[in-house]
Amino acid sequence: MSDNVKVAVRVRPFNNREKEKNSVCIISMHEKTTTIRNPESNEEKSFAFDYSYWSHNPSDPNFATQAIVFNDLGIGVLENAWKGYNVSLFAYGQTGSGKSYSMVGYGVDKGIIPCACQELFRRISENPDSTVTFKGPYVDGLALLPVKDLAYIEQLMDEGTRARTVASTQMNATSSRAHTIFTIILTQTTTNMTTMKVMDKVSKINLVDLAGSERAASTGATGDRLKEGAAINKSLSALGNVISALADASEKKGKQVFVPYRDSILTWLLKESLGGNSRTIMIAALSPADINYEETLSTLRPNQKLIRELQEEVERLRKLA
Ligand code: ADP
Ligand code: MG
Repeated sequence: MSDNVKVAVRVRPFNNREKEKNSVCIISMHEKTTTIRNPESNEEKSFAFDYSYWSHNPSDPNFATQAIVFNDLGIGVLENAWKGYNVSLFAYGQTGSGKSYSMVGYGVDKGIIPCACQELFRRISENPDSTVTFKGPYVDGLALLPVKDLAYIEQLMDEGTRARTVASTQMNATSSRAHTIFTIILTQTTTNMTTMKVMDKVSKINLVDLAGSERAASTGATGDRLKEGAAINKSLSALGNVISALADASEKKGKQVFVPYRDSILTWLLKESLGGNSRTIMIAALSPADINYEETLSTLRPNQKLIRELQEEVERLRKLA
């Protein structure tokens, strides 16, 4: 598959609600292929991804730990950022499917964001090349704050988590009804020791925990929660529209196509990270349970479309370069 866009899927253990309902696991994985079974008709559908992570039962020899996921996806993000690419990593899926577990983690099971920050500062402190220096400002909303160490990033993340609106729905008591975008700007400053000329290589790393993708009907949300759900679906579909406009542009080779980046704050923030000099990774988070069949199928499907469109765009840009 393309180097520029990669899609991963990860299936989590049953939660208490699924256990209480005596749920059956309808997901299976074989190498890079993920298969979902319709619990009523037993019909199976298979999808190929760059990575399929089996995190359903720890006793399985193929069980994917946080460290395994970080070593593939998190290290890949850092390596591309070091080369000067803008990199975005999105977690996508219904509320309770494991997006925040992969991106942020819980307790000692640290996710990609804290592990990537730790590794980033380790690499900076062990940088053997004295002609290169680094700084890594952190973007929080409209504030741009320079950070020197891991402890300060952790403090900012805690403040960010506390400030987020967390509302309870029937799906999950800790469901987050907002997109969380964690951005690091990595600047590598190289000094040419002969000419003493200074050159900056700047890359933007976006680590995005998207709000739940579930349709309003399945959440039982009403009033303000329902309005919030509509806004979330709007920004997810704005993301889809940006990606299909980029794909359109690739079909109409060279002709100007309007890309609706300004349709949502999400796509506006990610503008320079989706076209051009960028790398994108999607992680689709899946519930294993039969009771979530419809939502899980819709999580698997758009990604097939998303990856195809992103790949086409990337191919177009490669030809233009
Ligand atoms: P989301 O962010 O998609 O709403 P969470 O990441 O909060 O979902 O996950 C919901 C629950 O499932 C949490 O209690 C989390 O600890 C658990 N969970 C999710 N993924 C895994 C996993 N791979 N291994 C163990 N527990 C997980
Ligand atoms: Mg979450």
